[in-house]
Amino acid sequence: MDTGSPRPDFRLLFRNDSAVSVSPPALAEQLWKGLAGPGRFKLRRQKAGRVLRKPSHYARHYEGCTAVLCTKHGKEAAIAPPLRAMLGLAVYVPAGMDTDILGTFTGEIERVGTPLEVVIRKARMGMDATGLPFGLASEGSFGPDPRIPFIPVHHELLVFVDEQRQLQVVEQLVTNRTNYGHSTAASLEDLAAFLDRAGFPSHALVVRPNTGPETQLLYKGLRTVGALEEALRECVSVSDDGLARVETDMRAHMNPLRLAVLRRLAFRLGCRLRTQCPSCGSPGWGVVDVIKGLPCEQCGYPTELVSELVEACPCCAYRRNRPRDDGRRTASAGDCPRCNP
Ligand SMILES: [Zn+2]
Ligand SMILES: [Zn+2]
Repeated sequence: MDTGSPRPDFRLLFRNDSAVSVSPPALAEQLWKGLAGPGRFKLRRQKAGRVLRKPSHYARHYEGCTAVLCTKHGKEAAIAPPLRAMLGLAVYVPAGMDTDILGTFTGEIERVGTPLEVVIRKARMGMDATGLPFGLASEGSFGPDPRIPFIPVHHELLVFVDEQRQLQVVEQLVTNRTNYGHSTAASLEDLAAFLDRAGFPSHALVVRPNTGPETQLLYKGLRTVGALEEALRECVSVSDDGLARVETDMRAHMNPLRLAVLRRLAFRLGCRLRTQCPSCGSPGWGVVDVIKGLPCEQCGYPTELVSELVEACPCCAYRRNRPRDDGRRTASAGDCPRCNP
């Protein structure tokens, strides 16, 4: 069903931010195959009506700077490379910093405050300890998805604090691509299905007694069948009901799925920090909110779909709405509460 709109161009974007439009797409494909060496340029399809952000909004404000990242769990492996490549910003991980005093996943120490408060406190902790004006921290929370019963959800926050410019930029991601879960078992045989779901052994496990006075007994970071069996035996023997509670280990270095989320967030943060506010020129311009209500194609009634994105500056009060990136201006009647109740 051709709607008669012009066929979208392909844009070849070069590393130095210059671009050429190529049409028709088949020619672009050919050019890409023939010319693109790895890293030379990327091919991006530009849909009709989509406006690319002007390269003049990009600036490397943090070239040669160093930001402190407080982590005991190897998060720098995911966070540092994108920030170095996109901003020229180095990431420093101080030795001996204990972020566990702000709370742990396994619940020995409870977290006080909202995840956003905790993550900012964590970034400031590293800045205070090292005297660096730039700080990074991330905070993950996991639980059942309130929208879909029995499906786990992972919410990760990544924050950047800039003491010099008095700004903080938060990027966050909510995903169902997580292995978060728990089970109870008396022996390894009971666990077969759970181990499969949990991605064991590439993703580690935590084992503790299910009930009884010995619940402070805790085995973390289990990644071999031998270690898991031994932990199960110990915990089952001291548990009142003869069961061990087995949980997924959600610490970043024990959980490749979480590391992948951190990497995506670091790319988004890099994009934000290299984009300047059109009003005051400070870094960190980006989407902070969405406005729902994309009108139905048949009756024009506002649907639950996003109609506009709200961009804002972390420094000044300037904000601006822009239409969706994909050029969509109407929602299908199937999404309309009036046409398809
Ligand atoms: Zn501004
Ligand atoms: Zn409708």
